[in-house]
Amino acid sequence: MIDIKRIPDEAVQVLKDLKTNGYESYFVGGSIRDLLLGKKPKDFDICTAATSDQVKEIFKKVIDTGLKFGTASVLVKNGSVEVTTFRKRVDFVNGERQGVACFGNSPEEDVKARDFTINSLLFDGDKVIDLVGGLADLSDRKLRAIGVPVDRFNEDALRMMRAIRISCQIEFSIEVNTLQAICDYAGLIQNVSQERVRDELVKVLTSELPSTGVRLLQETGILKFILPELDACSEFRQRNSYHDKDVFEHILAVLENTLNDLVLRLAALLHDIAKPCTFSIDEKGVGHFYNHNTVGQKMSQQIMTRLKFDNKTTQSVGTLIREHMSKLQTPRLSTVKKLIQRTGIENIGRLIDLQIADEAGSAPPHNFKPFDVLREKVEYIIDHGDPINIGDLAIGGQDLITMGFNQGPEIGRVLKQLLKHVIDNPEFNNKEKLSEMAMRIKSE
Ligand code: ATP
Ligand code: MG
Repeated sequence: MIDIKRIPDEAVQVLKDLKTNGYESYFVGGSIRDLLLGKKPKDFDICTAATSDQVKEIFKKVIDTGLKFGTASVLVKNGSVEVTTFRKRVDFVNGERQGVACFGNSPEEDVKARDFTINSLLFDGDKVIDLVGGLADLSDRKLRAIGVPVDRFNEDALRMMRAIRISCQIEFSIEVNTLQAICDYAGLIQNVSQERVRDELVKVLTSELPSTGVRLLQETGILKFILPELDACSEFRQRNSYHDKDVFEHILAVLENTLNDLVLRLAALLHDIAKPCTFSIDEKGVGHFYNHNTVGQKMSQQIMTRLKFDNKTTQSVGTLIREHMSKLQTPRLSTVKKLIQRTGIENIGRLIDLQIADEAGSAPPHNFKPFDVLREKVEYIIDHGDPINIGDLAIGGQDLITMGFNQGPEIGRVLKQLLKHVIDNPEFNNKEKLSEMAMRIKSE
């Protein structure tokens, strides 16, 4: 059923080496699931009777990925293969692990310690071994917890998010009892670290079905624990003719309209996050959300810091949220340059994508023309290499000091003034013209 040629030779060799050394070993997990689905696996995991120490004796290059948990990464050409000693289920009471022994003696014990049936198929290099009904669920396209779902989620609550995430990645439905347990025990997600939650959220957002995933997070009740600010958008009516959906449905529509880029999808997810808290209603009964972009930027920073996103991603998402309402109608080139200045070159394309997705997710009639015009102008500016930032000026701080300017804030002020001039007149961006201009500013 699995053509071994679809597994890289290096990974197959690791399995063979383990077996030749007398250790029962299998490919297991997402890679086998993906191969059976005709998808290209991301990475290959092996479970084995060998302990990590024994694995280290067999292979030259091994990284201790999680020795405590029996995982060693064997380095091979173009990557690594995760080799994990058979585990067994540990007893949990109220989410607390009871005892320390977690290594198992057999593949049977190992698969029972895994999360979902489709993630528990073994491949010995020849045939698939199904100990928990994974093949039937694979053909029914169902994600089912192994054993009693509640017990699995009590052991590790992240599995609830893994269920939603994997179902979006491979377009499976979640089996009804598994889904019900997630709804009943959603609050357990509070026991999980923000980093693990973030990693699953990222995978939902960059999956094939990001809006389905976020909707599932909301419907199961997980969202109100991990992103209460977004949960508050659910059923929040906008009372405004630009919108035919509540805030949450609008956000999902925008998310659905974006390309698969994490920064862009995070920005889509959070672009209207401040709508509930900035809502006001005028005397005609029309809803407004003044400053929801700037308040939204601040909220997004708080949320992303809480979820331990890196600084660069957090800043870029914040910038896109702050600027998402900067919808320019037939702008002058200098206005577009100032917009690029505010977003940075790396984010201007994303901003236009976000604005288009936002328009498409709002009430018709839609007008996409201004975005085409904006994109053309951005391309023109970038192709021409027109100066946008102080660093693009043909003159620098050192030149000004040589010309007799005082070191300190004066330099920055003069450079800013020069940039302002050059933004309107790029042809002035040469040393001679800028020196002249600087001297004129000095004498004023
Ligand atoms: P992908 O690699 O595409 O993200 P995956 O299913 O391979 O998906 P991994 O995180 O690589 O996920 O984990 C490999 C395997 O380890 C899983 O298929 C599953 O059998 C098991 N596993 C991972 N995380 C858990 C968990 N929290 N609880 C139980 N089993 C898990
Ligand atoms: Mg994997």
